[in-house]
Amino acid sequence: MKKIAAGVLVMCLLLSVSGVFAAAPERVIVVFHDNPDANLVGQYGQVERTFHIIPAVVAIMPEEAVKALSKNPRVKYIQPDIIQYVTPMQMSVSAEPLAQVLPWGVDRIDAELAWSTSTGAGVKVAIVDTGIDMDHPDLVANIKGGFNAIAVKGKYRDPDNFDDDHGHGSHCAGIVAAVDNSIGVVGVAPEAWLYGVKVLSNSGSGTTTDCIEGIQWCVDNGMDVISMSWGSTTYDQALNDTCQAAWDAGCVLVSSAGNNGVETPDGYPSAYPSVMAISATDSSDNIASWSNYGAEIELAAPGVSIYSTYEDGGYTTMSGTSMACPHVSGVAALILGAHPTYSNQQVRQTLWNTAEDLGTPGWDIYYGYGLVDAQAAVV
Ligand code: CA
Ligand code: CA
Repeated sequence: MKKIAAGVLVMCLLLSVSGVFAAAPERVIVVFHDNPDANLVGQYGQVERTFHIIPAVVAIMPEEAVKALSKNPRVKYIQPDIIQYVTPMQMSVSAEPLAQVLPWGVDRIDAELAWSTSTGAGVKVAIVDTGIDMDHPDLVANIKGGFNAIAVKGKYRDPDNFDDDHGHGSHCAGIVAAVDNSIGVVGVAPEAWLYGVKVLSNSGSGTTTDCIEGIQWCVDNGMDVISMSWGSTTYDQALNDTCQAAWDAGCVLVSSAGNNGVETPDGYPSAYPSVMAISATDSSDNIASWSNYGAEIELAAPGVSIYSTYEDGGYTTMSGTSMACPHVSGVAALILGAHPTYSNQQVRQTLWNTAEDLGTPGWDIYYGYGLVDAQAAVV
């Protein structure tokens, strides 16, 4: 597995900082070598918040202040805030089926054949996204909590309200753990515990600072799996460091490779070393034409015309690597249900070792180690 040369990219990012900041003060992330010092940063700009998952302070400050503060030996680097976004390729809101259906993706990865061994019961899966429809009848039994990271800036008032006002997060949640009952759909791990971590607004976009806040919550609250169906094409050292810290804390991190149809690394956080990058397949096992591919792809999963839960109690069909990602997050939950003592590295290794090899034999740039296989993964 070839991963990015982080040091070189950091330098590129730092060198580009002076070009990023215009005359108006901008939001920056000041990352310290050791302890984050809000008082120090406050001498240069308006402090918004302090993180502990990485030693960082978020502040609004002018370009000259960024230059001056960068010279402080306690400061490791300063980077701009970056926009992150979901990228579903298409969607069509559908009527609820008359009886529960087994979506083709759940069927294709043989999740239903794994349930006699594991349903992912009690495994904590964070859907870090636009939120989750908190009272969706096909999700509510599995929703155990969550957090609205955007609320810390006052845009949404209640940090405990992670209700989905976009639909994307609810769709991903249903792929992981829609309830096995008489209605709607059923997820890959139908008894996994869902946590809605809202980091993206009703436009489906958000910022690196809110995403760091959300991932920090995941670590603080003992999430087992962090599912991230979003990203940007910009390398982002603070998000990379945050994902690494979550990995070091024991979390399994899964993310969509991106929908630009290009050889990567072009999608972050999926390309960061601590995160599994997932490409998307159709029902004939072909990689979707718009799916990113490249050196960081670890697994492929169903991502074309995926039917799942939606906001306001609804159901819809969406396509994207955004949909492939939660299939893998669900299988990770199944593995942890079968093997509660597994480390995140053991879960990752199991996913690699049990994937159904497709394309050229062995690991390749389109399928990674292959199509995720739920049944094989829980043996
Ligand atoms: Ca159902
Ligand atoms: Ca292969």
